[in-house]
Amino acid sequence: MSSYEAYKERLLKMKPNIYVGGEKIGRNDPRVEAGMNMIRVSYDAETDPQFKDKAIVKSSLTGKNISLYTHVPQNTEDLLKRQKLTRDLCGLCGGCFQRCMANDTISGISIATKEMDDDLGTEYHQRFFNYLKYYQKNNLCGNAGQTDIKGDRSKRPHEQVDPDLYLRVVEKRKDGIVVCGSKAHNTIAPYADEIIVVPTRAMTKDDADWAVSFAIPSDAEGISLIARASQPRARTHIKAPFNERGVMDSLTVFDNVFVPWERVFMCGEWQYAGRLALLFANYHRFSYCGCKPAMTDVFIGATAMVAEYNGVGNAPHIKDDLAKLMVTAELVYAAGIAAAVTGKKSSSGTFEPNFMYSNAGRYHAGVNIFHEYDILSATAGGWPATMPYEEDFYNKDIKGFLDKYSMRKPGISAEDQHRLFRFISDFSCSAWSGVWQYAGVHGGGSPIMEMIGIRSNYDLKAKKDLVKHLAGIKD
Ligand code: SF4
Repeated sequence: MSSYEAYKERLLKMKPNIYVGGEKIGRNDPRVEAGMNMIRVSYDAETDPQFKDKAIVKSSLTGKNISLYTHVPQNTEDLLKRQKLTRDLCGLCGGCFQRCMANDTISGISIATKEMDDDLGTEYHQRFFNYLKYYQKNNLCGNAGQTDIKGDRSKRPHEQVDPDLYLRVVEKRKDGIVVCGSKAHNTIAPYADEIIVVPTRAMTKDDADWAVSFAIPSDAEGISLIARASQPRARTHIKAPFNERGVMDSLTVFDNVFVPWERVFMCGEWQYAGRLALLFANYHRFSYCGCKPAMTDVFIGATAMVAEYNGVGNAPHIKDDLAKLMVTAELVYAAGIAAAVTGKKSSSGTFEPNFMYSNAGRYHAGVNIFHEYDILSATAGGWPATMPYEEDFYNKDIKGFLDKYSMRKPGISAEDQHRLFRFISDFSCSAWSGVWQYAGVHGGGSPIMEMIGIRSNYDLKAKKDLVKHLAGIKD
C-alpha cells in the first residue's frame, strides 16, 4: 500500500466530526477528498524519480528512510531540500500543498522541549521524540494548531472575560490533561491525522494555564472541526489538474478534550510559550520562502502566456512587469536560501533557519501579493471576470459564437484560448482565489508580524555606531 493509500485508509476510519454549511460530514465527502488530493502530491513525491531524492531522508532518530515532511532538519542541506521541494510541489498544485505546516511545528517543538528540559528540569524532550518516532514510522499528516481566537486584543489570556478564548488546560490528571478552547484558521485539519498544538504568543506567569502544547488525533472525543471548503470551480468539459484539488480550513473546537501525558509537550511553562510560538513562526516563514515563489512562478507563466495570446507578448511594459514578478519570486527564494545557509544548530540538534532572512522573505512575499494579482489582471483584461460559463462554450447553438468571439492572436486554437482564460479566472478571479489573496497576506504571519519580529531582533545599535564612526561622533 502506498503512503497515500495508507493515509486515506486511516482518514476514512475516523469518526465524523467535521461541520460544513450546517451539515456534519465524514471524510468520504468530496470536499474533504479534494483536500486529500492536495496532500497526495507530497506522498506521491516519495516514489517519483523526479523528487524522491529530496522527499525521502534518513531519520535523525532511527536512521530509517522517512518522509522529509516528518523529519526535523539537522543541517543546511535538509533545509535546502525542503525549500526546493516545497517550490516544486507548490508549483505542481498551483498553490499551497499544505504538508509543511506540521513539519514546522514538530521542528519548533523539538527545540523548545530540549530548552525547557535543560533549564527547568522537565521531561518533555524524550517524550516528544517518542511521539515523533511514531509520527515518522506511520508517515502521518499533521495540522498546526497555533492561532487562538484571542478575544479582546488588549488583554492577555488570563484577563479575557471568557478564559476559553485562548486554548487552556482546565484539569491536570494522573494520566493526562483536559483542554478547552479553540484554534482558528486550521488549514488541513479536516484531513489531517493529527492536530499539533503550540501556543500563539508569549505568556506571563498568570497565563501559565494557557501555555500548552500537545498532539491529538483530529477525531478525538470532544473535537469539532467547523470547516469551510475552497476549491477551484468544477469543470465538466475542459478538465484540468488545477481544478482537482482543494483546501479546507477549520475553526477547531476543543470541548474538554483529554490528552494523555505522552502527547503533552508543554504544560504551564509560560516562560517558553513565546519561544515556541516564534520557533514555529520562523520555520513556517522559512517554508513560505519556498512556496510563495512557486505561486509567483504561476503568475509569471500566466502573465507571459496571456500577453502572448493577446498578441502583446513583446510589449516593453509587459517585459517590465514580468521582470518585476521574477525579482519578487527570486528575492523571496533567495531569502530562504540565505536562511538555510546561515541557520544554526540548536541544543537539540535541530537546525534552525536564520530568523532575519526567513522573516524578511515572508514579509516581501506578503507585501507583494496584491501587486502580482494586479499585474496578471492588467495583462489579461476583463475576460477572466466576464467570460460565459464553461457549458455555454459547448452549447451547439452558441459554441460557434463563443469560439469566434473569444479569439485573439491567430494560430492559437479556440480551446487553448478558452483553457488559459478559464484557468486565469479560477486562479485570480474566483471564490477560491479570494481565499488565497487573504492567505497570501496573512498565512504564516501577516507582514506586520514579520516587521515586529525583525525590529525586535535587529541590531539597530550597530547601525547607529556605524554612522557615529563615519560622522566622527564620539559617545
Ligand atoms: Fe506551506 Fe504555508 Fe506555503 Fe501552504 S502557504 S505551502 S502551508 S508555507
